[in-house]
Amino acid sequence: MTGEDRPVPVVDDDSRDFWCGGATGQLLIGACTVCERLFHPPAPICPGCYSRSIGSRRVSGRGTVESYTVVRRPWVPGYEPPYVVARVVLAE
Ligand SMILES: [Zn+2]
Repeated sequence: MTGEDRPVPVVDDDSRDFWCGGATGQLLIGACTVCERLFHPPAPICPGCYSRSIGSRRVSGRGTVESYTVVRRPWVPGYEPPYVVARVVLAE
């Protein structure tokens, strides 16, 4: 399987900035305009204060791998194992 065969993500109002930011070289993460919390995955409400006043913020892309696993059995259609799933804590 090549990268062209992989399923494409669903882009909606909540996830558009995240999925499309790369076209301009930006990593855009959900950001609450009330409490300023950054969050991912994209969501229509802030997971911290439950505000619906949501935007996005450009982040550096720097971070630390907090945990990872190597997926060795089929789990997600279109992604042939083995592949790595990682939890990354952003520098921000
Ligand atoms: Zn908030």
